[in-house]
Amino acid sequence: MTTKTIDFAQYSSIKIGQKIDVMLLEEPSDFTDTYYLLGSCNNTLIGTQPPPLMLLSKKYNYIKIEDTVLTIGGATPSGKIASFCKKHDIAHFELLSHLPGKLGGLVYMNAGLKEYEIFNHLLSITTCQGTLKKEEISYGYRFTDINSPILEVSFTLEKGFDKEKVALFKKMRSNQPSTPSAGSCFKNPKGDYAGRLIEAVGLKGMRVGGMEFSTVHANFLVNQGNGTFDDAMELIKEAQKRVVEKFRIHLECEIIILDKRYMNEKL
Ligand SMILES: Cc1cc2nc3c(=O)[nH]c(=O)nc-3n(C[C@H](O)[C@H](O)[C@H](O)COP(=O)(O)OP(=O)(O)OC[C@H]3O[C@@H](n4cnc5c(N)ncnc54)[C@H](O)[C@@H]3O)c2cc1C
Repeated sequence: MTTKTIDFAQYSSIKIGQKIDVMLLEEPSDFTDTYYLLGSCNNTLIGTQPPPLMLLSKKYNYIKIEDTVLTIGGATPSGKIASFCKKHDIAHFELLSHLPGKLGGLVYMNAGLKEYEIFNHLLSITTCQGTLKKEEISYGYRFTDINSPILEVSFTLEKGFDKEKVALFKKMRSNQPSTPSAGSCFKNPKGDYAGRLIEAVGLKGMRVGGMEFSTVHANFLVNQGNGTFDDAMELIKEAQKRVVEKFRIHLECEIIILDKRYMNEKL
């Protein structure tokens, strides 16, 4: 297997991390569960004690049209998929114009906005352990039970790229800060909003070091410059503590925390 050195302070959307030698997965047989597989690190916070990391190789960056099916490699970036669908007048991928990530990460997280989710038009996935039809996968709000690297995903192919939907998603995203972040910090608890709860316990705009619960949207933990993993963890824990004390609600992290000290904790 080959390795690649990645500077996570550059690579990750939250701009935190160090240089790490990452394994590249070329063949399904390369995978062992001692490695943690990453996409483009838009939903991930890398700690100072990360597990061994792996990325899909460039071989999995492709898009194919096959009759009524669109087949896309797991390492394909969302922007490339959105541009392809615009060019070929394909429906249902407008969401990806404004959603950062690679397809494997987007599917694993069942990424989306409100009722528009990546699973809506998905047919099947191919992982290192074989192919699974949508009906065989358990999925929900920012959740799937997929437990093997996603190499390829098939979707229903329908005509009709909708520019109005692109505008709608852009508008829906307009309340999100543009400062570096890893997207929403916590999942919305049933019937409530993580941002409202963080604001209600007085943490909107709260800073520790270079990290801050954004003044634009409190559920975005943003890096105002030189923010560290420890700064981020201090804010995450403080929010969870205050929200439990005041509302008896556990705020579950949507951000994935990759640090051996925290990976067995329910964060
Ligand atoms: C500014 C901003 C706004 C965002 N807005 C939204 C939003 O509105 N809605 C939303 O849903 N998300 C949002 N996100 C989060 C992010 O876009 C999604 O979670 C996306 O799916 C992350 O993809 P990634 O490739 O970066 O995954 P990573 O962060 O690299 O990984 C995320 C998870 O996916 C797993 N994974 C990655 N690749 C694979 C693979 N090939 N096979 C199996 N598992 C894999 C990883 O192991 C990890 O558990 C936002 C992020 C940012 C930075």
